[in-house]
Amino acid sequence: MKAIHRFTVRTVLPESIAALSRLAKNLRWTWHQPTEDLFAELNPHAWDAVHGDPVKLLGSLTREEIQQIAADPELVARIRDLDADLDTYLTEPQWYQRTQGEDAPAAVAYFSAEYGITSALPQYSGGLGILAGDHLKTASDMGVPVVGVGLLYQAGYFKQSLSRDGWQQETYPVLDPDELPLTLLREADGTPARVVLPLPEGRTLSAQIWRADVGRVPLLLLDSNISENDDAARNVTDRLYGGGSDHRLYQELLLGMGGIRALRAHSRITGAPTPEVYHCNEGHAGFLGVERIQELMNPGADAQAMMWEEALTAVRAATVFTTHTPVPAGIDRFERDQIAHVLAAGLAPDVPSERVLELGAETMPGGDPSKFNMAVMGLRLAQRANGVAELHGAVSRSMFHGLWEGFDTEEVPITSVTNGVHVPSWIDPAVWRMAVDPEENDTNPAARWRRIYNVSDAELWATRRALRERLVHDVRERLRASWKRRGAADAELGWTESVLDPDVLTIGFARRVPTYKRLTLMLRNPERLKRILLDPRRPVQLVVAGKSHPADEMGKRMIQDLVRFTDDPQVRHRIVFLPNYDIAMARVLFPGCDVWLNNPLRPLEACGTSGMKAAINGGLNLSVLDGWWDEMYDGQNGWAIPTADNKAGTDERDDIEAAALYELIESHVAPRFYGDGSEDATTAAGPDTAPSRASTVPHQWLAMVRHTLATLGPKVSARRMLTDYVNELYVPACVAGRRVTTDDGALARGTAHWVERVRTAWPQLRIEHVDAHGVRQEPQIGDELTVNAYVDLGELTPEDVTVQVSYGRVSETDHIHERSYATLEDVTELGGGRMTFSGPITIDRSGPFGYTVRVLPRHDELASPAELALVRNAGD
Ligand SMILES: *Cc1c(COP(=O)(O)O)cnc(C)c1O
Repeated sequence: MKAIHRFTVRTVLPESIAALSRLAKNLRWTWHQPTEDLFAELNPHAWDAVHGDPVKLLGSLTREEIQQIAADPELVARIRDLDADLDTYLTEPQWYQRTQGEDAPAAVAYFSAEYGITSALPQYSGGLGILAGDHLKTASDMGVPVVGVGLLYQAGYFKQSLSRDGWQQETYPVLDPDELPLTLLREADGTPARVVLPLPEGRTLSAQIWRADVGRVPLLLLDSNISENDDAARNVTDRLYGGGSDHRLYQELLLGMGGIRALRAHSRITGAPTPEVYHCNEGHAGFLGVERIQELMNPGADAQAMMWEEALTAVRAATVFTTHTPVPAGIDRFERDQIAHVLAAGLAPDVPSERVLELGAETMPGGDPSKFNMAVMGLRLAQRANGVAELHGAVSRSMFHGLWEGFDTEEVPITSVTNGVHVPSWIDPAVWRMAVDPEENDTNPAARWRRIYNVSDAELWATRRALRERLVHDVRERLRASWKRRGAADAELGWTESVLDPDVLTIGFARRVPTYKRLTLMLRNPERLKRILLDPRRPVQLVVAGKSHPADEMGKRMIQDLVRFTDDPQVRHRIVFLPNYDIAMARVLFPGCDVWLNNPLRPLEACGTSGMKAAINGGLNLSVLDGWWDEMYDGQNGWAIPTADNKAGTDERDDIEAAALYELIESHVAPRFYGDGSEDATTAAGPDTAPSRASTVPHQWLAMVRHTLATLGPKVSARRMLTDYVNELYVPACVAGRRVTTDDGALARGTAHWVERVRTAWPQLRIEHVDAHGVRQEPQIGDELTVNAYVDLGELTPEDVTVQVSYGRVSETDHIHERSYATLEDVTELGGGRMTFSGPITIDRSGPFGYTVRVLPRHDELASPAELALVRNAGD
């Protein structure tokens, strides 16, 4: 049973230290070490008890403790200084203010179903959420005016523990929003602001809006756990990625449609600028476009209402969609009827439901007409779309090619922006001091990372060892706690005190456990893995962690297989599985590992960011060439596990790739770590004891570490990612969005009418004949030909289209490779809508040569020639 009334008794701080409350609530402390240190030092014992959570810490202080702080002039001065520092941080011009001009958006709304910002606000399940958190933090650092939108889940994601026999156990501790770093958004009269969505059967779904401050970025989180909701509506935001399909649909409606309304309330109440660009991070928030169309179709008294196609044009122009899913099975889909049913309740009363249903229709070959596909809707509602690594961009273009029939895969208008990580959150302070120049350099970010070349081998090695040692201690504590939960008594656990060795090569592997990530690939040949772990001269130790989706039995079985292997007394000092992988564990794990292992089934890892976090701490990657590693591996920053893509069945492929992994560790990774040949001063040690390696400095290894820090640092930094988003997507979307909406949307209206006219007339368009003049008997490089295309435009005019010749080397099947394009500019009217389009091309290569012609729609407001998915190819 739920309480319908509750209240929390607030800590009242004396005036002189009142700023503590603001320092605790602004999440900048999560990446500002001096602020975090302050809280830790206020009361180290209480700090541990609240797991490093400043809001909870302040709530736990007694009156006497508060009085003591207020009476300590040194603390009072420190608090005042940190408060002033926060002020400066929040208001000083940053990269965005220094580099961007008039075309840059006044605000960008960023929608995501999860946010991984800090363990003190556990609202994430894995990589997607961590990425969203890093996006907001980096926006704050760079002064990019982002406002985040999400949901506040009462239980966030589950906490993982293990049963005695290694089976994953899930618990969902309920969070109390009053103990989280959040502020309720209130109207001027003090009542909490509300978002209300109508539901079928006359029900409603209301939500209140919490605001988290991520540095200068506000994050609005909708929370349906309020008394005016019925029980079902209250539970909409009960947990991340809730149970059934209806539950999930309501979450997504609240996130997308409710999210837009929350933004409006926030702007109305606080005067925050209205976003000019909307970034939909994965398909979950796709309904935001429907709500914005609704706004434009019924804008209230002062503006002229738009028609469907006009509103769609205006919304698309200012929307960016990011896809993260490399497999169709990973895409969110609902029943078409489910969507029709909720729309009938009047969610978007002025938008024709039939058109909304078309947005999510799987019109590609093989599509299921009974489904409503959130990724497909995302692509249709955004003029600009991207994948999250170069390879993933290519995979996405193939995956969604069916929506752009007639175009080549490379032309599918989905680009890529490779993910990055928020360096101040993930780098260890010791590595930061050695490797990163705190001075910003807007034009040459790489210069910030050169400092590591001035650090000596001895110093670098000592730091790496210290980080490894800290991890070893953390692992021992966690392992002991885990075994106690598994039912072991203290007396049985003496061995956990000597698990792992601070001088042994440490490989980390931590991630969610969907099948494609292959948690258990390393167990493919258990005997060989044992030999590697127990090698007397070059031992290896492995730290493994990961959560399986609660409904994924396969994933849980993989965890169990792994845990059983690690339970073996023969190897348990060299391999551990740590339950409950989360941000807090990650922050110790990444810096402590020498090597970060990643072995997904290529190309199913969209990007992956954990290897990036290892890299910025001087860890070397040992990974399948998938996601980010595919574009950033350079031969000296780690190792590439060779893949057997497509060549083999799953089992055979696992065998081949596991063997390659073992071979790499035995022959390359371990010898280099322990210093091969002349560098190896430890060969005299006996077979059973790990030799003392602390004094051996492996120069070649450290050269790789230095190279990794200096060259990968700037590339994997989320500053690079955000710069790409701003330059390639946000600014163009802002410019397009402004253009189509000025003058009461005159250009949106014009463009929309043009699109409708072109769509209607397109089926009549014909390429009747193509020929060329100037082809000699024996054509040579440098010859110029004139290509003529005879086209019946039907109802269209020459200004509506581009007629292109595509030419280049042809294969035996007459497929044109290494294509070039030229526009046929000279138009001759032949009467009755028929025209000739002519123009020159130059033969620029030898061998089999061919050309063909196609017609594309042409309009200044199209961001890509493929945008409308309309094309007429000669010979169609
Ligand atoms: C970085 C991170 C992830 C995502 O890592 P991937 O490489 O994308 O699998 C997941 N969980 C936590 C706690 C992380 O820190």
